Amino acid sequence: MNKDIVDLINNNQEFILTSHVNPDGDSIGSEIALFIYIKSLGKNARILNYSPTPDNYTFLDKDKVIEQFDETKHKDKILNADVIFILDTNEYERIRTLEPFIKLSSAKKTVIDHHLGFKPEEFDYYIIDTNSPATGEILYRFFKDIEINYSGKKIINPQIAEALYTAIMTDTGSFKYERTDAETHLIISELLKHGINPYDIYSKVYNNATAGKLHLLGRFLENVKLLYEGRLAYSTMLQKDFKETDTDEYAIEGFSTHLLSLSTVTLGIVFTETKNGVKLSFRSKGNVYSNLLAKEFGGGGHQNASGAFVAGGRINDLIEEAVKKAEKYLEEIKIN
Ligand code: 5GP
Ligand code: MN
Repeated sequence: MNKDIVDLINNNQEFILTSHVNPDGDSIGSEIALFIYIKSLGKNARILNYSPTPDNYTFLDKDKVIEQFDETKHKDKILNADVIFILDTNEYERIRTLEPFIKLSSAKKTVIDHHLGFKPEEFDYYIIDTNSPATGEILYRFFKDIEINYSGKKIINPQIAEALYTAIMTDTGSFKYERTDAETHLIISELLKHGINPYDIYSKVYNNATAGKLHLLGRFLENVKLLYEGRLAYSTMLQKDFKETDTDEYAIEGFSTHLLSLSTVTLGIVFTETKNGVKLSFRSKGNVYSNLLAKEFGGGGHQNASGAFVAGGRINDLIEEAVKKAEKYLEEIKIN
């Protein structure tokens, strides 16, 4: 598939890149890296996202090229594009209001992603690797393949290296989650040779809290509930919590890891009340399949990190339902 996508890029001119709602370091980093590469070939490209870029990732967007999707402004751009890249998700639903236009567009729809649940019939081209800890890592291998086998020219420059490093650092939980392996560290080693600074990047991403965010974390920790002999932990964030701490829904990124810091816990759930529904965020340890529980709420994701969004849902009903449904997923599945 790499060769087909190399040809696709070389033979076309108008590109759109997008990623999922509430973008993270892997979505923004992957978009910026691929954008820089496509632009370096003299092509036209745009990054259109449903959500704004979270403040802690704007350093990746040095030239402010990421645009928030606006139907009146961007509809025709999508309809008239040659190629649309969907990065770090393989579900149309997760690109929200861009979905109908992308589906209508005659552009070649191309996915680069590492999530489960991919349906090949919905796209024209794809690179899917569910063993990869980050879309940024798949892109690194794609670029290396082009460098070595197709163009002979160096693609990865310091800005691409910074974007890919951020993508991999954030999606591996700073190099500690399950799928972090020797290859991940080798890739990181190569990226570091471009002169990027790990502490500097870590600081920009994670040491950027406001007092409000710490107060919100205080509420989150205070709200933690334990059930089923401490195997399930959950916490709840309401609209009033965001209002009273002068924060927003994006501020809870990373909170869920605190649930897994409890020794007895195998599964953690964060329930977030948003303006138009309830977001459920699942995290699990080892062979506890959080994504199967997410699926019961119309969501998905990875084995140990998954989520769902229930439009118009009531938070108390969803807590009750999820707690009940969670019980059967709390045991590790032993695979021989
Ligand atoms: P988070 O809890 O950090 O928002 O999401 C963790 C992971 O769950 C994401 O990387 C993504 O794979 C998945 N995920 C989160 N929300 C949704 C959703 O609404 N639908 C689906 N299918 N997956 C989601
Ligand atoms: Mn990712």
